[in-house]
Amino acid sequence: MRQKLVIANWKMNGGKAHLSGLLDKFAAGILKPASVVVCPPSIYIPLVEEQLLDSAVLLGAQDISPYAGGAHTGEVAISMLQEFGCTYVIVGHSERRNYQAETDQLVADKFAAVIAGGLTPVLCVGETLDEHERGKTKAVVLRQLDAVIKKTGVEVFNQAVVAYEPVWAIGTGKTATPDQAQQVHALIRGRIAELSRAVSEQLKILYGGSVKAANAQALFTMPDIDGGLVGGASLDAEEFTTICNAAG
Ligand code: PEP
Repeated sequence: MRQKLVIANWKMNGGKAHLSGLLDKFAAGILKPASVVVCPPSIYIPLVEEQLLDSAVLLGAQDISPYAGGAHTGEVAISMLQEFGCTYVIVGHSERRNYQAETDQLVADKFAAVIAGGLTPVLCVGETLDEHERGKTKAVVLRQLDAVIKKTGVEVFNQAVVAYEPVWAIGTGKTATPDQAQQVHALIRGRIAELSRAVSEQLKILYGGSVKAANAQALFTMPDIDGGLVGGASLDAEEFTTICNAAG
């Protein structure tokens, strides 16, 4: 059985005092044993690492350079994340695909860099509202997934997480219904199963898009939804701890 996983994506929010206060509240409020990961803005990774030393909560990053090091101003290399105890790295978030024009190829390169560094990539896939309305969900999600499989093969998904994040549901308050999300999660697992049933059975597939305390339980009971990637609600300690406890 796959253990549930909940990942907080703090995006470019917070400040030292705010984020540190949130972690204190998470420590007090998370009571059930789901795996929980916090992804702060990269400048706060050392601060969060220190605060999580005695905690079961794990540390992740929101992005990574595809390069190992060198002349890449502003970038963060995987070896730097390793030094600060990060274990998960989000790649291909729709905000980066959209605002930083990240292509499927670049996302695949980043995914491969995370795997090569021995960390766990969290590959985000999902369709825009326009694509959703034009019935393109399946084609878009499989295109994004296949670009990574083509680069790395399927076996490395033993060491990866996929997050289905319909772009129309991110930060909008609109959530995919549990049935809608389940259909896409089953599609993703099915594609992996075509290549390796064993990999597909252990792969965690998270749902992201306006997950909150009120809808987490219903989403997490679906057979192919293995937890959540949570943006806005992860900045509210009560909301986030309720989501984690729903997963645990
Ligand atoms: C996200 O940023 O990955 C996300 C799912 O955001 P929100 O929960 O705010 O929709």
